[in-house]
Amino acid sequence: MKPVRTRFAPSPTGFLHVGGIRTALFAWLVARQQGGQFILRFEDTDKKREVAGAREHLVQSLRELGLTYDEGPDIGGPYAPYVQSERLDSYQKYARQLVEAGRAYADPYTPEEVQGFREAAQRAKQPFLYRNSRPENPPEWDGSQPLRFKSEPKAYAWHDAVMGDLSTGPEVIDDFILIKSDGYPTYNFAHIVDDAEMQISHVMRGQEFLASTPNYLNLYEALGLERPVLATMPHIMAENGNKKLSKRDGAKDVLDYIRDGYLPEALVNFIASLGWNDGTEQELFTTQELIEKFSLDHVQRSGARFDEKRLEWMNGAYIRQLALDTLYDKVRGFWPASAEAYDDDYKLRVLGLAQERLKFFSELPMLTEFFFTDLPINSELISGNKQLKKLDTAEIRSLLEQAQVSLTESDFSVPDITERLNLLLEATGQKPGILFSLIRIATTQAPASPALADTLAVLGKDRSLARLNAQLAALS
Ligand code: GLU
Repeated sequence: MKPVRTRFAPSPTGFLHVGGIRTALFAWLVARQQGGQFILRFEDTDKKREVAGAREHLVQSLRELGLTYDEGPDIGGPYAPYVQSERLDSYQKYARQLVEAGRAYADPYTPEEVQGFREAAQRAKQPFLYRNSRPENPPEWDGSQPLRFKSEPKAYAWHDAVMGDLSTGPEVIDDFILIKSDGYPTYNFAHIVDDAEMQISHVMRGQEFLASTPNYLNLYEALGLERPVLATMPHIMAENGNKKLSKRDGAKDVLDYIRDGYLPEALVNFIASLGWNDGTEQELFTTQELIEKFSLDHVQRSGARFDEKRLEWMNGAYIRQLALDTLYDKVRGFWPASAEAYDDDYKLRVLGLAQERLKFFSELPMLTEFFFTDLPINSELISGNKQLKKLDTAEIRSLLEQAQVSLTESDFSVPDITERLNLLLEATGQKPGILFSLIRIATTQAPASPALADTLAVLGKDRSLARLNAQLAALS
């Protein structure tokens, strides 16, 4: 069997949404599982679409996710260069070979003439095919005209490692452009030459290339090349509706997620789940497990739904698995500015509580600010609370005063605070949803917080009582 060599072949056109890198992940998993190689190649033959900085961006995205490649533009390899615009000689060589074999011709037509053919086909209610207007005596190809493939229309039946057995009729085969008049090859031509030269064993890519595949099969034959394994990835669909995921659906760039404090392992796990599962209910996979368990025949054929809430859940699950010290190192850049004045010990205690609810690191200020600074009294937290707004001010004051009396005598250990809060429930006859919410609001001025006794213990006695006082003053 051929050694396994897979590739990720992005065009450096900028934005890479978190689903866009799925092809890279799947190709990487196949290579790592089979002890093969994973190759990065830049497909930059469409100079108009190129975006400055996109190459660095792609490299960094792969690096952040840990998708190491064995050969690539910046590290070289036996088939260098790995940038299409630096491989023009190679395309010329294959193009000449096709011309000499009578399988490519210079396209002599102006765009207006082609438009004329198109309209004629429309009038005749025929599908438009270039091959129906092939010139009888094409001029010699001097590089100034586009070079077209002279296809051989025929039916194909082939196997796609994801989509299964596929077949098409001869009507989809056409004379496509190999080399444009600017001297650059088309994607359709260049990737076939490169995959062959680079000994790629598995071509894994998005569904948008499926319709052209019969034409690629035709070209493999004309060039006498062995077909690689073809594997077509299902579309990634927006969360709502039946359309492909795009930037407009809020799909962020991979690096944006990293910047927001998502863990690379969680992102990899989530991306793998976009169209793949191992056939069981398991949802969390370490990267090592993914390498062991991934298989193309478990990639689904229908579109995979992008659900950001699921990514948040997954990332939260990974955060909760981390040792507190490890998490502490990772969140270093994410604390609110007000935390700067506090020592590691205090911040570790705060983080220990936040770890339970943190979904991504940039939520840390929102979740922990009140541990470091007295937030202004927000009267809407009481007036807008479903349960609390039923009480009048006197009742609220009375509850807070009783809490104050009881907590003044506490040693502020978690067990003691817990006991006092429970006694207070009995004494006041209130539900926790009322009493505890009220104390929580008074002592944090935040819409949510960790468990009340834990929160008070970390805040400490002086601060907790001072805040109860401030709330009482605001109510009078
Ligand atoms: N350059 C193509 C793209 O970015 C790659 C397709 C392929 O993997 O062959 O869509």
